[in-house]
Amino acid sequence: LLELIGIEKSFGQLQALKTCSLEVQEKETVVLIGPSGSGKSTLLRCVNLLEPPDRGNILFKGKDIGRDLRAAPLIRQEIGMVFQNFELFQHLSAAENIMLAPMKVLGLSRLDAHDIALGLLRKVRIPDKADSYPDELSGGQQQRVAIARALAMKPAVMLYDEPTSALDPEMIREVLDVMAELSAEGMTSIVVTHEMGFAKRAADRIVFMEAGQIVEIANSADFFGGTVNARARQFLDQIL
Ligand code: ATP
Ligand code: MG
Repeated sequence: LLELIGIEKSFGQLQALKTCSLEVQEKETVVLIGPSGSGKSTLLRCVNLLEPPDRGNILFKGKDIGRDLRAAPLIRQEIGMVFQNFELFQHLSAAENIMLAPMKVLGLSRLDAHDIALGLLRKVRIPDKADSYPDELSGGQQQRVAIARALAMKPAVMLYDEPTSALDPEMIREVLDVMAELSAEGMTSIVVTHEMGFAKRAADRIVFMEAGQIVEIANSADFFGGTVNARARQFLDQIL
């Protein structure tokens, strides 16, 4: 479904990504781990063209999407992204946050968009929060609205960049549960997270990055079974 081939990205002198290649199959969940500054966010941002790669190809459904940045808005409809800090529109209610793109981009009526929003709020287990504003919601609830907002465009792929790292421990679980359920239903996902419990439960493969490079790609079972390269093991020991 998604293939990154030799992606490179520099910021000035700093080589943030050095020839990263990764193939993600339909319905697969890939968890991306690695030390701070290793390039995890940059890689995700390249995938949905928030950050155009300097070199390399990004094939999505067999088409090279990295070439023509005019196509970026279209691509972002199909590749949903969830950020660490939710990034909800503060002046819009939960339902309105979700309705915005379906109305503006897909041209749905307010009524149809509202139906979709209510359905998605049920899906992320906050059916009674449609009319609440972000500042009336807990962090975990806000993040679930952000997930629902991304789902409203019916994306083919979901990208999550440390979706629970800004949350209090008791709220992490409810967000991870929603993500794991989506994965189990076959939503193709790439997840940057340090939550190894989630990785164990939901990931098909684990990708370990260091210093702008993908240094290991392992099946989840192998990874948690102990066949991990030494550097990845050392990193895991630090965060567990
Ligand atoms: P973290 O775990 O801290 O989120 P990360 O693995 O997501 O780290 P990135 O955010 O991808 O790392 O950053 C990779 C490198 O690129 C870092 O050295 C970072 O300082 C640099 N970098 C990222 N974005 C920019 C930018 N917009 N301008 C300049 N440098 C950047
Ligand atoms: Mg990051």
